[in-house]
Amino acid sequence: MTFSLADILTARRVLRGQADATPFVPSPYMSARAGHDFLLKLETCQPIGAFKLRGAMNAVMTLPDGVSGVTCCSTGNHGRGVAYAAARRGIRAVICMSELVPQAKVDGIRALGAEVKIVGRSQDDALAESLRLVEAEGLAEISPFDDPKVIAGQGTIGFEMIEARPDLHTVLVPLSGGGLAGGVSVAVKSVNPDVQVIGITMDRGAAMQASIAAGHPVEVEEVPSLADSLGGGIGLKNKLSFPLCRDNLDAIVLVTEEEIRDAMQVLFYEDRMIAEGASVVGLAAVLAGKVRPEGPVGTIVTGRNLDMGQFHRIMAGEDIALGDRILKGKTYGA
Ligand SMILES: *Cc1c(COP(=O)(O)O)cnc(C)c1O
Repeated sequence: MTFSLADILTARRVLRGQADATPFVPSPYMSARAGHDFLLKLETCQPIGAFKLRGAMNAVMTLPDGVSGVTCCSTGNHGRGVAYAAARRGIRAVICMSELVPQAKVDGIRALGAEVKIVGRSQDDALAESLRLVEAEGLAEISPFDDPKVIAGQGTIGFEMIEARPDLHTVLVPLSGGGLAGGVSVAVKSVNPDVQVIGITMDRGAAMQASIAAGHPVEVEEVPSLADSLGGGIGLKNKLSFPLCRDNLDAIVLVTEEEIRDAMQVLFYEDRMIAEGASVVGLAAVLAGKVRPEGPVGTIVTGRNLDMGQFHRIMAGEDIALGDRILKGKTYGA
């Protein structure tokens, strides 16, 4: 399968006026910490509160005439994007998710009129159900990350970033299945091959990192994380996002739950912004000294669809239960 900047520029036309042109703004606090301009691409400003609208919209809007409906597996945000795009197109959407998906995300998808199926404890279980629906009900499956239309949609983010700041030196991309990192890396490196693109993910269940190390897609255990949107494998039959990430990412950096918590607090207390754990891993990597940028750096604040009760407790410095593990609370600035 070939994939290039041309796919991303085509997606840009599909998305124009519907899922594009999010703000790309400097964070004074993070710039001081990084020693260079540090810019935030605010995908939290998308109508579904996450960047996944781009890929989902590009995939749904370019399906052939007469399609009866769509289905997908999701950790929450892709499902929300597919539900939104399907409603726009006036077709049915069935979103399959595991029990690990937070209720706030499930509610958001139902509110868009989609059918929701909760199956099993992993993305693999949810994917199996989605593929069953393709056979049983003739729905079109839209992969959350391993689909050229989806990757092209996500890639438009990278194009907007490098267009706004041609001097970007480093781009820090939250990484799970690699649709975002795959698309963004093609976009920015097509414009300037010297830009460093670094994938960031949580240290437990880092599927893409394990797969690249093994030389082929491997399964990892899925565990509860503040970065719930980064959970799940990359698919043992991965065709496109795995090779794109393997060939284009300059590094993959892992962050801990404590580092994610600290970065959520920084974004809130310093920049007054609310974002999911998955969205702040780029900040977390710099704050923890795991990435030391050498020039202007941009990261993608990927989404804001979190559980507000949990967010409150994190900001108040209270302990957080992550499955059977307790993340000790920490008061900001203390
Ligand atoms: C899906 C998602 C990611 C990761 O995107 P991939 O294409 O799966 O790598 C990051 N942040 C948020 C909020 C997401 O929903």
